[in-house]
Amino acid sequence: MTRARILIVEDNDKNRKLVRDVLQFKGYETLEAVTGEEAIEIARHAIPDLILMDIHLPGIDGITTVERLRADPATSGIPVIAVTASAMAEDRARIDAGGFDGYQSKPIEVREFIELVEATLARVDGDEQP
Ligand code: MN
Repeated sequence: MTRARILIVEDNDKNRKLVRDVLQFKGYETLEAVTGEEAIEIARHAIPDLILMDIHLPGIDGITTVERLRADPATSGIPVIAVTASAMAEDRARIDAGGFDGYQSKPIEVREFIELVEATLARVDGDEQP
């Protein structure tokens, strides 16, 4: 199995460290961004296998970030999981309409989170089979 590379977009240091530690423990390679703008730059250059996207970020929010990733052919095919504490109905509706491939609520429950990451990566791998 190849080592998938995952971009973590999260402005909270503790949350970012937790997700990084969990993913690295499971053998994934990680990249990190603190803002949506930074995430777009890293995604264009590194083309990660998966992006974990916080919604509330300084500057552009996670939903706008995903809209921009989807509009760029270089990054439009990268799966994105929304990771957010947001329980606001309006936000959830925007997430559901925003082209995300999955949804993870915060605080994360580690086993459930890893299962979602693995399932999303497996689905993408499956799509690429001849
Ligand atoms: Mn945040």
